Parts: sequence; structure tokens; C-alpha cells
Amino acid sequence: MARILVTGGAGFIGSHLVERLLGQDHEVLCLDNYFTGSKGNLEHLRDNPRLELIRHDVVNPIMLEVDRIYHLACPASPVHYQYNPVKTIKTNVLGTLNMLGLAKRVKARILLASTSEVYGDPQVHPQTEEYWGHVNCIGLRSCYDEGKRVAETLMMDYHRQNGVDIRLPRIFNTFGPRMAINDGRVVSNFIVQALTGGEITIYGEGQQTRSFCYVSDLVEALMRLMNRDGVHHPVNLGNPEEFSIRELADKVMALINTPSAISHRPLPPDDPGRRRPDISKARELLGWQPAVPLEQGLRETIPYFAEKLKQEGYQVVGKIK
Ligand code: NAD
Ligand code: UDP
Repeated sequence: MARILVTGGAGFIGSHLVERLLGQDHEVLCLDNYFTGSKGNLEHLRDNPRLELIRHDVVNPIMLEVDRIYHLACPASPVHYQYNPVKTIKTNVLGTLNMLGLAKRVKARILLASTSEVYGDPQVHPQTEEYWGHVNCIGLRSCYDEGKRVAETLMMDYHRQNGVDIRLPRIFNTFGPRMAINDGRVVSNFIVQALTGGEITIYGEGQQTRSFCYVSDLVEALMRLMNRDGVHHPVNLGNPEEFSIRELADKVMALINTPSAISHRPLPPDDPGRRRPDISKARELLGWQPAVPLEQGLRETIPYFAEKLKQEGYQVVGKIK
């Protein structure tokens, strides 16, 4: 049993991770400022005496005694990370600095939830960890992707300079239950739109691609990486099956009987054209690969949103097939 700090533990991925760690009898400290996360995501774990909730913002230092740190605190949806871009940079830079300071002081192993966004709008396909990326440093996405790139730099420098035991997963698009209704990312948007009968908003022509990983697969990989000794370099984690955004819309509409129609909106600036992880390293080092295909993941996720929408007073007109 270990004492484990999960920053961003009330968020989408964080809440699934907290649940899995508690299931392994660990003591879990969940630290969150509830910007995009919510206590509701952890409601079912509230009575567990091994869970402690701490309302705190990672841009401020904190003194705790822990063995391991999963550092996930950061808004992940473009809508939310662009809401206050300067705050997003602070969260990535000062937040990661604070967590590294903590890790150094208490000699804790620390994992940073990095991202495929460090590859920017990639010119190499599929993306391997060796690729240095193609990132605009002054664009609307820069607060997030450059923020995460600096966070990776800090992790590596604390490792080289102070011997901090780091883990650097680069997470590709992940989806599942407990994404917020207003999250704004594509999978939750399409499902919510199909269920409420709103227009399915495809940005651009929908030819851009993404590779969607179901959250249980991702959390399994994060835990395997944390538990694997000696892997200090970045490791891609994601589902290597690639779909266009148009294909995703068709899949969602095939699973929900909906009056919704597709409507095209302008493609946001710097929107990556193609994205797909090369997961050879994860396969080799962690013995891991995703087990849940996109369609099955959607089937698990859609009823969650239907229920959540009803609870929040929305009219659900789409029928799950
Ligand atoms: P999320 O927005 O649901 O969760 C982020 C959590 O961090 C929320 O609970 C939020 O309240 C908290 N938070 C934000 N700023 C904070 C701050 N300054 N101090 C304390 N808490 C703060 O997003 P998610 O999808 O669960 O992403 C979790 C992590 O994984 C993020 O670091 C994100 O960059 C990374 N990631 C996610 C994906 C994905 O597809 N979901 C892909 C790549 C990387
Ligand atoms: N997207 C879309 N409609 C939406 C939301 C997103 O077509 O309602 C597109 C977006 O332009 C991008 C892809 O879906 O090409 C994935 O967007 P998301 O915000 O989920 O993640 P990211 O761009 O960070 O990979």
C-alpha cells in the first residue's frame, strides 16, 4: 500500500484513476481546484476512508508526504484551456514546478500527464516518441501544447539535475464516462448533440483524423508505466486505430436514433490534421495495448451521457439503439 497523490483527481481521467488506485488498497490524496472537474465524479467513493479530497490550486506550492504523484491537473479541452490561456500556462509551468519540488523533497516518483499535443500539427505520421513535433509557439493552442512541452522539459531537467524519478506518458485523445457535458471535446460534443437533438458540429470538412482511446485502457497504461522501473523517457499512450472526424460523427449517429443533422463550422486555427500514435514502446515496455475498440467505448459512454443529461434537466430525444 502506498500514499498516492493524484492532481486533477476530480477530472475525467483522474476520477477513473483514483477509483482504480483505491481498488488496489492504496491511500489516495486527490488534489483539485474543481475548474473542470467536480466532486460528483468522486461521489461514489466518498465514504472510502482511504480517500482524502484537497481543494488546492497547483500553481501554489503544497507540503504533503506521499510516495507517488500522478500529476494530471490541467484543463484538457481546447474550450477550457483557451478560456484563460495565461492561467493554463501557469498551471502547466508553475504547477509542474511545484509538483516536482514536492517529488524532490519527499523522494516520490512522479508521472506527468503529457499529451500528443507536444507533436503539434505533425509532419510525421504515425507519431513516434522520437519526433520533435511541429508546434506554433504563438497560436491559440500554444498555452496548452507549449505549456506541456515546458512541463516535459522541467520533468527531464529535475531528473537529470536532481535524480527525480519521472514518468512521461504522452496521452492521445481519450474518452469515456465522466467527461463533462460541456467539456467541448469532440466525442462528448457529438454524443450530447445526438442525444439532445442538436446539430452535430463538424469543424471543417471533418477529414482531420484522431485516434480515440477508451478511458479504462488509458488508466491501465498509466498505472503500468508508473509501476515500471527505470523508464524516464516519453511513452505514447493511445489507441492506434485512426478515424476521421466525419467517421466519428457517423459512428455516433449509427448508435443513437437521433433527429440531429450534421452542420459544418469553421476549422479552428492550428487544428492538427492527422494524429495517430505509434505505440511500439508501450507494447514493448508495458506489455500493453488497448483492448476496447471505438464502437464498444462509445456504447459504454452513451448511456452515461443520457443519464447525466436527464439528471441535469435536459430533454433527451435521441434513442440509444
Ligand atoms: P479534465 O479537464 O477532465 O481534468 C483536469 C482536472 O484538473 C480537473 O479536475 C480540473 O479541475 C483540474 N485542474 C485544472 N487546473 C487545475 C489547477 N490549476 N489546480 C488544480 N487542479 C486543476 O481533463 P482530463 O481529460 O481528465 O485530462 C487530465 C490530464 O490528462 C490533463 O493534464 C490533460 O492535459 C491530460 N491529457 C488528457 C487527454 C485526453 O484526451 N483526455 C489527452 C492528453 C493529455
Ligand atoms: N471537433 C469537431 N466538432 C466538435 C469538437 C471538435 O469537429 O464539436 C474536431 C476538432 O476540430 C478536432 C477534433 O474534432 O479536429 C478533435 O477535437 P478535440 O477538441 O476533441 O481534441 P483535440 O483537437 O485537442 O485533439
